[in-house]
Amino acid sequence: MVTGENGYEEAAAKLPFMTEQVRQEFKPDQVVELSPMVRRITAANPSMMTGPGTNTFIIGNDRLTVIDPGPALVEHTEAIVDYCDGRLEQILLTHTHPDHSPGAALLQQITGASVKASPVQLTRIYDETFTLNQPLEDGDRLDLDEYSIEVVHTPGHVANHLCFLLKGCHWLFAGDMVMDGSTVVIAPPDGHMGEYLNSLHRLVDMPIEAIAPAHGRIMDSPASYLQSLIEHRLRREQKVIDSLVNVGAATIDELLPSVYDDVPVVLHSVAAMSLEAHLIKLADDQRVNRSDDRASWSLKD
Ligand SMILES: [Zn+2]
Repeated sequence: MVTGENGYEEAAAKLPFMTEQVRQEFKPDQVVELSPMVRRITAANPSMMTGPGTNTFIIGNDRLTVIDPGPALVEHTEAIVDYCDGRLEQILLTHTHPDHSPGAALLQQITGASVKASPVQLTRIYDETFTLNQPLEDGDRLDLDEYSIEVVHTPGHVANHLCFLLKGCHWLFAGDMVMDGSTVVIAPPDGHMGEYLNSLHRLVDMPIEAIAPAHGRIMDSPASYLQSLIEHRLRREQKVIDSLVNVGAATIDELLPSVYDDVPVVLHSVAAMSLEAHLIKLADDQRVNRSDDRASWSLKD
């Protein structure tokens, strides 16, 4: 558990996207009413990976649901507890990355609300404090009197990723399936590009009116936005293939500059993870070979 007040100004000052307008819109630990049924409290953890900070959403008016309590920051958890004021029933987690779920244990300790998430364990980067009271599966429905939430399993960013569809208004609480203004990192082995694309295709076909991502603003026109994400990934995949045509066998470090020539070099270490995910997908699709020492990749004949 840490306090975030001092670190916030320092972190925000270093981030080019934290303009005055963004800072006003995502003031940490303030309750923002997005609709009569949905509130947002953003945590004080802005970064290149988390945008203006992790959005915690609070659903309902009488019996409340919290989605993604965020990191275990005292001020953030206090803001959630104050708003809920004894009405919190359940804490839902989109996945167990450290910027999404560690606040759950603290929030549960204070409120007694039950923690519900996918039971799938991640292997590389994850919240080690994570425990759950109720495992969730695709298609589960959480019915409260005032509203109902459908669970949608969306593996890809990580294997235990869930989205939550609020029935009635059809808002999708999308965790890290999509991010406002940047591309989601797909880091193997927990992340999988083929599954991520399948999950995007599935969401395109669902009746979604708006997407509430864990980082950034609410997105209207979900279907066209999701479709543009699919096309973006397929364009990147084509660049991987084109680069392999040019160089023959190559390592990820050798492929990075050409495949991500449109991405600032400072982000290439992160892009390397998504590049590996693209290559694994192409190998799954029988279009690419991985060398026996697993270091280099080449096109299949
Ligand atoms: Zn994540």
